[in-house]
Amino acid sequence: MIIKPDSVRDGHIGHILTRIEEESFRITGLRYLHLSQQQAEEFYAIHKERPFFDSLVRYMTSGPVVVGRLERENAVEHWRKVIGSTDPTKAPPGTIRALYGISIESNAVHGSDSVENGVIETRFFFEE
Ligand code: GDP
Repeated sequence: MIIKPDSVRDGHIGHILTRIEEESFRITGLRYLHLSQQQAEEFYAIHKERPFFDSLVRYMTSGPVVVGRLERENAVEHWRKVIGSTDPTKAPPGTIRALYGISIESNAVHGSDSVENGVIETRFFFEE
């Protein structure tokens, strides 16, 4: 997972980490870092052709982020449920994006969308 620049800037790191633990995830890796343009482009390479790609990279490099490796049963599916839809206005009440998201782009947190991508994204930020 990633706590995105808007959440870090607006002081939600603590709330989001607390929620993660309340949802029975174990935090087995945690980093505070400022993504470089190259890292952000690589991380979101799958969206390269999308019209919002440049804006997304600008946003993700606009300030520091917190990256975490989370473990629990059914982790990917459960985290996607806890964060809610990409667009915070469509995210169910109580989900992290509904609580802290600002827009479809500045949507507070990232979650891997499959187990396969979870492994790839974890390796992107953490040693084995
Ligand atoms: P996610 O899996 O819910 O994060 O959504 P996607 O993989 O589709 O998109 C990746 C990220 O790109 C989202 O979390 C947003 O930060 C951003 N994004 C998605 N759709 C849009 C859009 O239509 N416009 C803009 N500006 N950003 C978007």
